[in-house]
This record gives sequence, C-alpha cells and structure tokens, in this order.
Amino acid sequence: MNILLVGAGLSGAVIGRELAEAGHRVTVVDARGHVGGNCHTERDGDTGVMVHVYGPHIFHTDDAEVWGYVNRFEQFRPYANRVKTTARGAVYSLPVNLHTINQFFGKTLHPAEARTFIEALADHSITDPQSFEDQALRFVGRDLYEAFFKGYTEKQWGCAPRDLPASILKRLPLRFNYDDTYFAHRFQGMPEGGYTAMIARMLDHPGIDVHLHSRFDPDRAGAYDRVFHSGALDGWFGFRLGRLGYRTLDFERFTDTGDYQGCAVMNYGDPDVPWTRITEHKHFAPWEAHEGTVCYREYSRAADADDSPYYPIRLVAETALLADYVALAEATEGVTFVGRLGTYRYLDMDVTIREALDTARQFLDCAATGQAMPAFARRPL
Ligand SMILES: Cc1cc2nc3c(=O)[nH]c(=O)nc-3n(C[C@H](O)[C@H](O)[C@H](O)COP(=O)(O)OP(=O)(O)OC[C@H]3O[C@@H](n4cnc5c(N)ncnc54)[C@H](O)[C@@H]3O)c2cc1C
Repeated sequence: MNILLVGAGLSGAVIGRELAEAGHRVTVVDARGHVGGNCHTERDGDTGVMVHVYGPHIFHTDDAEVWGYVNRFEQFRPYANRVKTTARGAVYSLPVNLHTINQFFGKTLHPAEARTFIEALADHSITDPQSFEDQALRFVGRDLYEAFFKGYTEKQWGCAPRDLPASILKRLPLRFNYDDTYFAHRFQGMPEGGYTAMIARMLDHPGIDVHLHSRFDPDRAGAYDRVFHSGALDGWFGFRLGRLGYRTLDFERFTDTGDYQGCAVMNYGDPDVPWTRITEHKHFAPWEAHEGTVCYREYSRAADADDSPYYPIRLVAETALLADYVALAEATEGVTFVGRLGTYRYLDMDVTIREALDTARQFLDCAATGQAMPAFARRPL
C-alpha cells in the first residue's frame, strides 16, 4: 500500500519503519527542515555541544522491547537524570527525597523518622484531593509545597495550582531515601550521537521517502491508501471548532566557558524568578569534552496560533473540545491520528514508541484481515 506519515518525529519514524519493513511504500513529510520532531538534537555552532533544541530529553523506560528497539538504531550511553532546584536561596535535589527533607528542615532524620515527620506535616483534613494544591498539601504539607511545587507550577502552567487536576502531582514521587535519580525506570540512557541521528537511521530504509520543509495539506490525503497524522488533531480539521490549548516554551540561549551550573537541569521554584529552569546541554553528554558551554533559560507561556505547541493543557474546556474533535476524527475515513499532537496527550518517548509499534501492528493486522483501521489506535479521551 501507499502510506503517508505526516511528521518525521518518533511516531512517524517508528510507524514508517515498521510498515516499510512489512513491504509497504512509505512517504514521510515534515514541515520542519529536520527529522526528529521535538526530540531533535543538533551540534551548537559555537561550542560543538550537542543541544536538545526543543528542551531536554532523557530516555527512560521499563519496556524491554522499546529499549531494544532504540538500541537497534543508536548506541545508548548510561545516563540518569538528576535534577536540582534553586529555591529560597538554597539548592536542593529533586524529586523530594531524604536529602531534600533533611536539608530543608535542618534535620538528620532516618527514613522511618522522615516518613512520620512528613505525615505530621500533611494536611489530613483533605480526604479526597481534587486539585494539584490539595494533593500537594495532603502529601507534603504547606512548607514543602510552597518551596518546591507552588511557584514552579504557577510558572509552568500559567494558573493557580488549585485550578489544576490532582493527577498532575500524582506523577511526582516523594522518596524517603537518598535516591536522587529523577526517573525510577529500569532502562535509562542517552543516545551517543543524539536523537536526530537515531531517528534518521529509523527512516533510512529503501521503502521510505522523506520530504522536509513540506507542510501537509489534508486535502491531498486521498492520494494515499492510509495517512498516519502525527501533527495536531485540530490542525487536520483547520481548527474549525476552535484551538486545543497548549503551553509553549521560549528558550533564551546563552553561552559561557567551562561549567556554568554543574548539572544538566536546574529548576527555579521561586515565583519572582521568571524562568522555570536552566538546561546546560553539555551535561547530557558527559563522555564529550568541550571548552565552551551552551545553556537555555526556559520560559513557559500559553501558545498562540504561530507558536510550537508543547504541553497539552487538558483542563475541562480543552477536554470538551477534544471530545468534539475526536468525534470528527472518527467520522473521517483514511486517516489515523497518532503521537503527542495527533492524540493531544503528553507522551514520553518510550510511550510514543510503544504506541507507534502497536499502531503499526494493528494496521498490518487490519490489512491482513480486511478490517477497517480506526481513527485512533489509542483513543485520546
Ligand atoms: C519540553 C519537553 C521535554 C520532553 N522531555 C522528555 C524526556 O525527557 N523524556 C521523554 O521520554 N520524553 C520527553 N518529552 C516527550 C517527547 O518530546 C515526545 O514523546 C515526542 O516528541 C513525541 O513524538 P511525536 O512524533 O509524537 O511528536 P513530535 O516530536 O512533535 O513530531 C511531530 C512532527 O510532525 C510535524 N508536523 C506537524 N504538523 C505537520 C503538518 N501539517 N505537515 C508536516 N509536518 C507536520 C512537526 O513538525 C513535528 O516534527 C518531552 C516533551 C517536551 C515538550
């Protein structure tokens, strides 16, 4: 079959590769001038440092098949993310762990003591936390909440934590030991040559044609047997029902010599510091040596029509609009919506790859059994 993949990010590259290996003819188009989507990495012209152009990306997964898959296309170096935060004139490690607790409260608690101590600070009057704020107060109490979560969250989401769902905080762990690694997954690492090299290798197959600087117009979908769209769901329909809300990021690049901040990611929790974090890219490749260093100061704001969409907002209004777009998509033939923009969800890279592999398999099964491929392999609601 003649298949079109809109988007040369991980979703497009993995689905394209799987279908090309199954013998289909695959065309991949991307509006940007590079493959890799938002995982794109490139060498900085001034310093030679490998830069994560759309923000820091650390690979982590418990999915052995996904880990095997990425290692097929690029050598991964061991890399565990360790995040620091500057708050109230001191530097702490995140996620909140025993070191953070002892440092913040000036104590020398052991794990069981710390658990009891934090339990005593927690707000037990909150029995069914609905908002991010309730959830934080219920779990860590007011002091830790205000130092580490409140200001950062207000800057990141542009709204009060009491207006965000509790589910956002459920993802942030609280540790009663000195483990300061950010992710708890079995497999973690960094692609030695960068994500773009890995994704370019996925797309390097005789059955795949890649066209960059090519924005796809859905009116041309009829030229293909099937389209997989990893661009914006509302964009496919010309935003005719309105725009799904996103946060976007602005990066203020600056360079220095040597080591600017001593770690890859430094968060800023205080509300009077306008940026959310500073990323120093050379620390993502500790096996390389560079005299210069390049950093991104990161600011978060609501995305306008011309901005790159980063994080789907998914509050009540957006979810209602999403339901309307899902209904439109399910009434549309010939296209399957995939990936972070096509399904309007935040997806880590490993989840993106897992879903892309499953989507390709589902398509091959449907083709073999004469069944119709649905508009979503994973329904976004
Ligand atoms: C700031 C940030 C940090 C992140 N950090 C991590 C991390 O540390 N670890 C992790 O696992 N995950 C991380 N992620 C998630 C990761 O970026 C995604 O999992 C991944 O990018 C999803 O790939 P995708 O192919 O679905 O989407 P994308 O990478 O967005 O690719 C979609 C592509 O489609 C193209 N496109 C869109 N519309 C059209 C059109 N009409 N015509 C042609 N082309 C089009 C776009 O140009 C884009 O290249 C992070 C995400 C963000 C926003």
